[in-house]
Amino acid sequence: MAHTKYTQLDIAPTISAALGFHIPDRDGTEIGEIVDYNNARAVDQIVLVVIDGIGATLYRKLQSELNHLPGLSADGVFFEIESLPPRITTPNIATILSGYTPEHHQVYEVADTFSTPVKMILELASDWGIKSGIVIEVMGAKAMADRVNLAIGVENTNGIIDYDHRTASLALKAFSREELTLQMIHLRAIDNCVHHFARSWEDIVFAARCVDENLGQLFSGLLKPTLVMVTSDHPIHVDRWTYLEEGDIHVPLIVGYAGTAV
Ligand SMILES: [Zn+2]
Repeated sequence: MAHTKYTQLDIAPTISAALGFHIPDRDGTEIGEIVDYNNARAVDQIVLVVIDGIGATLYRKLQSELNHLPGLSADGVFFEIESLPPRITTPNIATILSGYTPEHHQVYEVADTFSTPVKMILELASDWGIKSGIVIEVMGAKAMADRVNLAIGVENTNGIIDYDHRTASLALKAFSREELTLQMIHLRAIDNCVHHFARSWEDIVFAARCVDENLGQLFSGLLKPTLVMVTSDHPIHVDRWTYLEEGDIHVPLIVGYAGTAV
């Protein structure tokens, strides 16, 4: 799959178009192929998954090790989209969620979320009466608490593998018990592994497989027809491992349909 003209700025406008409203002044534009894919199906809910720290080149290298993520796009849509500077978790998640560049959203650390002049896609959806939620680390959830219908903060108390597993489980419960229409979740095992634990390629493969397994449980546990969008905040940014990305600044955007088996 070749790189596309699309960037992380285009994700929020794509979600808003799929939900039937528009973000008034955004830096990105909707991705027509995904809106068309959504509109051709009966979609009850949307989940946006941000996998921390997996670039397009790393994803290609991991493809043969993964099951559920490649399976999602087999009948869906797959793009390699450009990640924006500074390619750090918090500002890049804000770029994804807002559709604005950092100079406009001005979120460089979690505390900035309280004073950003723009609204995230989850807040805009709530304003439109579309129930939305987020499952993210505790501080991120606190920052979003009064802006969305449900902000679940996940403590990292038993290691990152457990954290990701609970994040995916909570997202499923939130969909079914809270009747949310839009959710964003953040899975951190790969980035956490390369920052703290990775000694070899096999360690990164292990972390990626854990993310893939958690996503498999999420996909199979969805009870309503769901548009699933999976992307990343930035390619690997830990010096020791950046060679795996070969200078590529793109991240995957994997889109598919789940929750229809029930
Ligand atoms: Zn990150």
